[in-house]
Amino acid sequence: MKDNYIHKGKRKILVRYLRDNLLINDEAVLDAMEIVPRHFFMESIFEDFAYEDRAFPIAAGQTISHPSTVAEQTQLLELKSGEKILEIGTGCGYQTAVLVQMGAIVYTIERQKSLYDFSKEKLKSMDLLPFYQGFGDGFAGLPHFAPFDKIIVTCGADTLPTALLHQLKNGGKIIIPLGDKEEQTLFRFTKINEKEFEKEEFGAYKFVPMLSNTNLE
Ligand code: SAH
Repeated sequence: MKDNYIHKGKRKILVRYLRDNLLINDEAVLDAMEIVPRHFFMESIFEDFAYEDRAFPIAAGQTISHPSTVAEQTQLLELKSGEKILEIGTGCGYQTAVLVQMGAIVYTIERQKSLYDFSKEKLKSMDLLPFYQGFGDGFAGLPHFAPFDKIIVTCGADTLPTALLHQLKNGGKIIIPLGDKEEQTLFRFTKINEKEFEKEEFGAYKFVPMLSNTNLE
């Protein structure tokens, strides 16, 4: 797959839309989304639509998130280059690529083997490899690599995973959609200490579910 002037032009238009209509103003997020070719992560039949603000099916019945969702979640991270980030739900790897492009030290986990394999290969071919990429259950997080500056969850959970809260540094933030299968609310929790968190709410979304059974697929 190539990244030609048409793709690049469409990315510029997408970034302008994110800035003007969705009030994304973190320049590092906008720069990364202008650079990373989203169409590389998608089936070639969807290539012409890759820069529309739409979610598309990927393998294993999952989806690549809307570009606006990736922009909003990443902006909420208030990421600084060099920060250590845990991502739950690698999926096709697009959100991972945006974080790596922004200079984050990324640790990412996916529970679907086909997506774990696909994203690993894809990110390697694009020279946007995260620091660590795991096949496993996001509810457990990565205790051996904790603590993290920030955690981003790209699937909708019905409860706040306590293991993840323990793996955050004090002052760290977790961005997570919480709700039922039909609809979730996007939350940001900032860890003050082991017992206290500041909670902020950012509207309704629909993510694929964060699956809690331990039988990996
Ligand atoms: N980050 C992706 C979004 C992928 S959709 C993007 O850039 O578009 C969310 C992903 O979370 C799916 O691939 C799904 O398989 C994964 N997921 C769901 N439950 C999980 C769990 N318990 N642990 C790890 N990944 C999980």
